[in-house]
Amino acid sequence: MILRGARIALDAKATGTVDLMVRGGRIAFAGRHSRDTDSRSPVLDFTGFLVLPGLINAHDHLEFNLFPSLGHGTYQNAKSWAADIYRPSVSPVKEHLALSKHARIIWGGLKNLLSGVTTVSHHNPFDATVFDAAFPVNVVRHFGWAHSLDFSPDLVERFRRTPQDWPFILHAAEGVDEHARSEIGRLAALGVLSERTVLVHAIGLDQPDLNLLRKRRSALVWCPSSNISTYGRTVAAAVLQSGLRVVLGTDSALTAQVDLVDEIEVAQQTHQLTPEDLFEMVTTRSACVLRLTDGEGRIREGGAADLVVVEDRGQTPAEALQRMRPEMMIVRGKVRLVSPRLRDRVSVFDDGKWTPISVEGKGTWFTDVDVPALHEETVRVIGPEYRLAGRRVSP
Ligand SMILES: [Zn+2]
Repeated sequence: MILRGARIALDAKATGTVDLMVRGGRIAFAGRHSRDTDSRSPVLDFTGFLVLPGLINAHDHLEFNLFPSLGHGTYQNAKSWAADIYRPSVSPVKEHLALSKHARIIWGGLKNLLSGVTTVSHHNPFDATVFDAAFPVNVVRHFGWAHSLDFSPDLVERFRRTPQDWPFILHAAEGVDEHARSEIGRLAALGVLSERTVLVHAIGLDQPDLNLLRKRRSALVWCPSSNISTYGRTVAAAVLQSGLRVVLGTDSALTAQVDLVDEIEVAQQTHQLTPEDLFEMVTTRSACVLRLTDGEGRIREGGAADLVVVEDRGQTPAEALQRMRPEMMIVRGKVRLVSPRLRDRVSVFDDGKWTPISVEGKGTWFTDVDVPALHEETVRVIGPEYRLAGRRVSP
């Protein structure tokens, strides 16, 4: 297909009105009046719309996004939180775990798709049987990981096994007490802090820790909603201004009842970041930290066709992320989500099975994901009162 007439994001601030030809999952051409375009490609007029690169959510646990927020009050560290909430045989955990993991993971993919995300970093091994072409979003495939120092006795071995050009992702310094704070030093002593190390949370950073992480060129995934609800605070503003590479992640509904659009707003309110800072944290910087090599995080010829279409109100790409409501989501060249107003435009060339999905407080879309079947299975196991990242969903 050829998208014509839209403003296209060139970076956080700049846009240009160019044609985009999407073919074979890639942006085959980006330029003015594409003469070399294949005449068989449908040409879609997107005048009045702004096209952004698909967003990157740097941390989620996809299978936990239907859960209510578990836990009571705030905790000192992740170990005490986990000990308090891990009650697999008690409601509501019991009912949620009874729903197939496959269904729960697809819900997690939908949460991301609905918020403009085209690539998510899922903190678990890549499962090729689930994360296939039918999955709503791309899932980061090439990475090493460990849960954390407390829960991964083989952490050093996992780090060593991770290929040099892959990121190594782990929860670290998740908490506000001495136990959590000591983790950066312990990780350094184990030799696992390097430029491919990506620490999730790292709330309890002091200045020497911060200096060390900067020296080692490690990166940080910031999940403010999750931190604030679990520990009553998040990383200091100084961390975000230190030059450390910081990217944004939602974490799961277990601790954060948010999607990435909500999280961008929380991040902005927490540390008064500029729209451009936030844009980098969910696009190019995230692609760099996660070592994504397919052109993710920007719109460029030859790169993956991961795109978000929004209404053009004259805003910059960075400003467009604030309370963003996607009109259309294209993942690897395929339309996966479309608003009612753009549905006719899509059905011209794609008459696939579109099913509606309504999200409380967000809106209604059509998607090729089989929402009615997913809803039916979910109601049967959990009951009609389920929520996706805190919001009621209906087909
Ligand atoms: Zn996590």
